[in-house]
Amino acid sequence: MSKKINPPTVNVIGGGLAGSEAAYQLIRKGVKVRLFEMRPMVETGAHRTEYLAELVCSNSLGSNLPDRASGLLKEELRALNSYLLESAYKYRVPAGQALAVDRDAFAREISRFIKGHTSLEFINDEVIEIPKDEITIIATGPLTSPTFYKYLLETFGVDGLKFFDAIAPVVRADSLDMSKIFKGNRYDEEGGGDYLNCPLSKVEYQLFVDELLKAEKIPLPDFETQARKSLFSACQPVEEIASTGVDSLRFGPMKPVGLFDPQEQRRPYAVVQLRQDNLLGSMYNIVGFQTNLKYSEQERVFRLIPGLANAVFLRLGQMHKNIYLNSPKFLTNTLQVKDKPNFFFGGQITGVEGYSESVGTGLLAGLNAGRLALGKPLLVPPPESILGALIKYITFPDHKHFVPMNANFGLFEGISFTQEPGSDKKNEKSDRKAYIIALARKAFREFIGSL
Ligand SMILES: Cc1cc2nc3c(=O)[nH]c(=O)nc-3n(C[C@H](O)[C@H](O)[C@H](O)COP(=O)(O)OP(=O)(O)OC[C@H]3O[C@@H](n4cnc5c(N)ncnc54)[C@H](O)[C@@H]3O)c2cc1C
Repeated sequence: MSKKINPPTVNVIGGGLAGSEAAYQLIRKGVKVRLFEMRPMVETGAHRTEYLAELVCSNSLGSNLPDRASGLLKEELRALNSYLLESAYKYRVPAGQALAVDRDAFAREISRFIKGHTSLEFINDEVIEIPKDEITIIATGPLTSPTFYKYLLETFGVDGLKFFDAIAPVVRADSLDMSKIFKGNRYDEEGGGDYLNCPLSKVEYQLFVDELLKAEKIPLPDFETQARKSLFSACQPVEEIASTGVDSLRFGPMKPVGLFDPQEQRRPYAVVQLRQDNLLGSMYNIVGFQTNLKYSEQERVFRLIPGLANAVFLRLGQMHKNIYLNSPKFLTNTLQVKDKPNFFFGGQITGVEGYSESVGTGLLAGLNAGRLALGKPLLVPPPESILGALIKYITFPDHKHFVPMNANFGLFEGISFTQEPGSDKKNEKSDRKAYIIALARKAFREFIGSL
């Protein structure tokens, strides 16, 4: 049975990764919580249990190495006393340098602790609207229930929420071989030559299509296949377009219309276009290359594209139902809704991507909702830190195309290329990474010290 909520103190809607972490942070600060979770009565199509904090797919929370963006994020979350991270280390299973967990033990323990806590009221029901005057965290995730999604749509408008995620890979600009790439516009449109064009000869194109068709795909659950068929014929994966005929890509996302290769002095047979993905120009996405290929296969096949042989992939492509807010328009960097400051968003619905990122934004939403309830000033993590850089990314108002993002070093704009402010000297890649990490650690230590 669905019902409206009318609770005191702080409401948390959704007991996934973000909601569980938010609830813990609230309890820890002495704030009472009403936690709403609809499963198992209403299912999401991906979750399998009734536990809170269920990991819906992989059991890995990503790299644990201190020199990886994902590792750095974990370090910051632990410094903020993340309960979910602590539980993940407790239930860790061997997985090389990754932090992988026994998913059932992890989720069972979190459910037991959170649901049983005396400061928390657990309400096993679907929320269909938010009470206007309560402090509330919305953490209903990428698979938000359809009824609540409709309510959010009515509240934020059609440009407020995106329903489906068609993510194309993102590569690091300095890993591209620019001797094989030329600048140009999008097909025959006017412009300042903003696109990077990777031209393919007939032989290169045919080899690429062959390998694309042979590559292994990620099997999709039924609900996603259905959703994709019915709703998103416009953003088909490249491998599916290729399967409809050898020339389909050449007349689709790889069409060379209006482009002229200055090296060959002619129009290319086919072209792959790269579009700038961040302000600094350190990241480029492969336009129209949303895909369901396995990650290792994406790297193998996309490196056949001229100019991408040594590409460093900052994000790999994927397709799944993914409801997320147009956060740059609606959220502040405290994760509050701009014109409804008693509403907070946390988790993947803010436009971050990944388990640890969802925990991180849930944690910040929990801390800030608690501080609002207690009349304390709200927190913004420093943009030099990885959590701060993620928050800056999802709330940056001038995105041309806002797409979900995971933790990666490409998020650090402006500080990655020079060793000292004002210096033109380019760092070696390893220096640059070490510099970013050192800066992030220093900024985060100061932030924690100020709490
Ligand atoms: C199919 C799929 C696979 C993914 N695989 C991975 C992966 O392998 N690795 C990775 O890092 N990331 C993955 N992600 C991305 C993301 O990290 C996870 O979705 C993560 O669980 C997001 O955390 P969350 O807390 O924001 O949402 P969730 O963990 O989904 O939690 C949201 C909770 O809200 C509840 N809820 C929804 N609507 C309502 C409502 N109206 N009332 C009450 N409760 C409600 C849901 O039942 C759910 O428990 C995947 C996402 C999807 C969709």
